[in-house]
Amino acid sequence: MSSERPWVQRRGLLMAVAAPSGAGKTTLCVRMTQRFERLRYAISYTTRKPRVGEVDGEHYHFVDTARFKRMVSEGAFLEWAEVHGNFYGTPRAEVEAMRDQGIDVLLDMDVQGVETIRSLGVAGVFCLILPPSYEVLRDRLVTRGKDSEDEIERRLTIAVKEIARIDLFDYVIVNDDLEEAARTLESVIRAEHARRDHIDRGWFRGAFFP
Ligand code: ADP
Ligand code: 5GP
Repeated sequence: MSSERPWVQRRGLLMAVAAPSGAGKTTLCVRMTQRFERLRYAISYTTRKPRVGEVDGEHYHFVDTARFKRMVSEGAFLEWAEVHGNFYGTPRAEVEAMRDQGIDVLLDMDVQGVETIRSLGVAGVFCLILPPSYEVLRDRLVTRGKDSEDEIERRLTIAVKEIARIDLFDYVIVNDDLEEAARTLESVIRAEHARRDHIDRGWFRGAFFP
């Protein structure tokens, strides 16, 4: 785990990561949270039912449709979308609070979410994770063993549409060899930390122009 100097960074990054289902987004993002001490997931709200092993407040905030719609009308979401028949939303206040503390926030979202955030003009880093091929994607969905045959076909159809939206993204990472892809994503985060607009001007002046 890397320890980053808190004074180097002003606000946490907003890192939106999308991928066709099965490309390895979860695997890669979990690795990033292990490699960067100050990188956390934003916990989305969803109307989807919890899967076995999923914990409320840890994997998602699980809510009913009425509560979700109320939150939409209150402006509680930075973005929200209907994905695979359920609603998902990114909580605005939690994201902003983490960024204010200099914590990088990972948004695990679908391509529609990226499109919305882009259209709002929110400054962020937009990454697309791709499998090396359609066949490999199918194999990973089958091997993962979480979805029925019909569901896998549905996810593959959606995948093709999502991949066509490649222009929405700043970075495209092909997840063929897992460690190689993890190193690339790690490099993207490190490079974004070094951007001039992430340097705390107060620290900079104090350190070099006493
Ligand atoms: P996503 O979150 O994008 O739906 P997952 O992280 O759940 O995808 O990965 C889908 C499946 O593929 C999992 O079984 C995971 O262990 C496997 N996987 C992820 N990356 C690789 C890789 N580079 N090579 C082989 N298998 C992988
Ligand atoms: P799952 O139900 O498998 O956890 O997630 C289904 C899809 O919804 C994934 O592509 C995931 O990235 C996306 N998703 C999860 N949270 C959000 C969110 O807050 N907003 C959007 N737009 N998509 C989300």
